Amino acid sequence: MSEKIYIGVDLGGTAIKVGICNEEGQLLHTYEGPTEVDKGPETIVDNIERYVRLVVEQSPFNWEQVAGVGAGVAGFTNVREGIIIFAPNVGLRDFHIRQILEERLDKPVKIDNDANVAALGEAWGGAGKGIENCVCYTLGTGVGGGIIIDGKIYQGFSGLAGELGHMSVVPDLEAIQCGCGKIGCLETVSSATGIIRMAKDAVARGDRTELALVEDITAKDVFDAAKVGDEVALRIVNRAAFYLGKSLAAVAVVLNPEVFIIGGGVSKAGDILFNEVRSVFEKLTPEPVQAGLRIEPATLGNDAGMVGAAGLFLRS
Ligand SMILES: [Zn+2]
Repeated sequence: MSEKIYIGVDLGGTAIKVGICNEEGQLLHTYEGPTEVDKGPETIVDNIERYVRLVVEQSPFNWEQVAGVGAGVAGFTNVREGIIIFAPNVGLRDFHIRQILEERLDKPVKIDNDANVAALGEAWGGAGKGIENCVCYTLGTGVGGGIIIDGKIYQGFSGLAGELGHMSVVPDLEAIQCGCGKIGCLETVSSATGIIRMAKDAVARGDRTELALVEDITAKDVFDAAKVGDEVALRIVNRAAFYLGKSLAAVAVVLNPEVFIIGGGVSKAGDILFNEVRSVFEKLTPEPVQAGLRIEPATLGNDAGMVGAAGLFLRS
């Protein structure tokens, strides 16, 4: 066997997920172990090295077939220098991860942030397979994003392109402050956190909703209530969908993508979210820009990070 394989590492605060991909972006074999953030950088690097070697040992492939190791990191990264600038959840700062891993593994290493890598994963092996131009939104605790142009991650001037969660879309009178320090960001309304906040506000105001009976409201509770006709919950879902659709419309006229891929926990809401997003998008976007454009749910789920990290070698 001389087929080349690529290893993708998804470095998160709790777990390190490692996967082997072939040149077509298919995930063939995976391994997952704890990050052990509390034990410090040395242990984290030891763990990455161990899991990368283990995933190959446990697979039908051999070490010589490994053409590169890519890593997606939850945090700010300097892609060109291969440095983690700051990854709060992983406890790493100004960390020369590429150099360290290249020395330990004796393989070329590339890194990028988790949102870009997830976008690349979906574009390469997921919902955007075969698509050269797509934009991905990840709706989770926050809203992450990644832009794929001509099959590659678009980095921008300093690697901050694709910070879609911080598009200012909410009008000032309704806007609240975002974690980034600015007001009116998409993330304040279309993330799980934003949806939960709107639900809690409605309950606190005394709005008539079954959510008032829920002890610790989650985004899923809001979607479930909306699906059975709770008007307050439906209003919240529509508001999250409206600003997401508005953001898509703005991006569409700038980048002319073929597909918008929407992933993350909130995207599991399904049609109740997607139908409204598509309807808002159609209202706000010029028809020629809409032609052929699709808005699709992500398909790789938690595997997107591993696939995209492996794809850094072929698609960046
Ligand atoms: Zn923001």
